[in-house]
Amino acid sequence: MPQHVPWLILLAVYGACVGSFLNVVIYRMPEGIGLVTPRSRCPGCGKQIAWYDNIPLLSWLLLRGKCRSCKTGISVQYPLIELLCAAMFVGVYLVDYVSGLRLEFVQAGLGATWPAFVVQLVMVAALLAATVIDARLFIIPVRIPQTVTLAALVILPTAAIWLPAMEQTAPVVDARGLGATVGGVVGLTVALLLLHLRLLPRSFDEVEETLDEAEPADAFLSHPHPRREVLKECLFVGLPVLGAAVGLALMNVPQDYLPAENQYPLGLRVLGGVLCGYLVGGGVIWGIRILGTLAFGREAMGLGDVHLLAAIGCVLGAGDAVAVFFIAPFLGLFAAAVQGGLARLWKSRGRVIPYGPYLALAGVGMLAAREIFWSFFGIF
Ligand SMILES: [Zn+2]
Repeated sequence: MPQHVPWLILLAVYGACVGSFLNVVIYRMPEGIGLVTPRSRCPGCGKQIAWYDNIPLLSWLLLRGKCRSCKTGISVQYPLIELLCAAMFVGVYLVDYVSGLRLEFVQAGLGATWPAFVVQLVMVAALLAATVIDARLFIIPVRIPQTVTLAALVILPTAAIWLPAMEQTAPVVDARGLGATVGGVVGLTVALLLLHLRLLPRSFDEVEETLDEAEPADAFLSHPHPRREVLKECLFVGLPVLGAAVGLALMNVPQDYLPAENQYPLGLRVLGGVLCGYLVGGGVIWGIRILGTLAFGREAMGLGDVHLLAAIGCVLGAGDAVAVFFIAPFLGLFAAAVQGGLARLWKSRGRVIPYGPYLALAGVGMLAAREIFWSFFGIF
């Protein structure tokens, strides 16, 4: 245990600093304000905040939650996010290297697994920011999950070139998985290209434009029907699904004709694992979005949720992404029951519940307890 203490202190300090940055992301990104400039100002008196009043956690405590010059209250949400992020960074280290929940990390050690650990930190920080924004505004800026996707896509396969422990600590695919993934990526690329060239119809996006231009009588006719809109998305989603099926079929030859699994370079198998998690994670949410919208006639689940589970899939792999997808609704139901109970206590009506926070919570839970989860089902 003593050898872990310096790392735990470092991660707590670093986590608090990242949390401070997340506060900026949480307040500025939905407003479309730059993350670096302008410098932070007090909303009360407009005075620029000095660096010594901007130290994570400490400044808020020393200032007792008030602006130095005008004494306007500073929300307790700022230090709470910093504290939460610090706790999560320490928590991920404890899960990976101390608890024994992820034995593959303990066995290989920090020196051989740190890229996977760093990507996990990026994921939990992004999930924290996405959760707070989704809970407040019912949107998830796609740049947040896309940051996780990019980090996983660059860091994990690159590290796999020289770190063999990535075989156990990053998502990997076998030959068939690689075939399906390559097919799916080709399909997705074609779909994005066709969408860009306007050869595929855009769904909901165009709604406002057409409503503005149309005459009132036409507006009624062209009023977007969610069921019709979501059918357009089927065309888009169909291409990667078709691509994956073709890729799988092409690789589905007798094993003798394929090189043995570990003859594929590990970097390629990890790249495939990350992309496979992306496609499967995004695909299951999008599938349910289409089915739900067709069934209920109302837009079900935002595309932010699609990007969120796709990002979780990049870090944890396709299997875990599917598990997260099934765990999240239970957490949502549980929270709704608690909220419903509380709401009855306060005699007020509960709010609509966004799905993103439960995906995020399930994702963090799966990061910690994946072995317990899979061994419960007899897999592992
Ligand atoms: Zn002030």
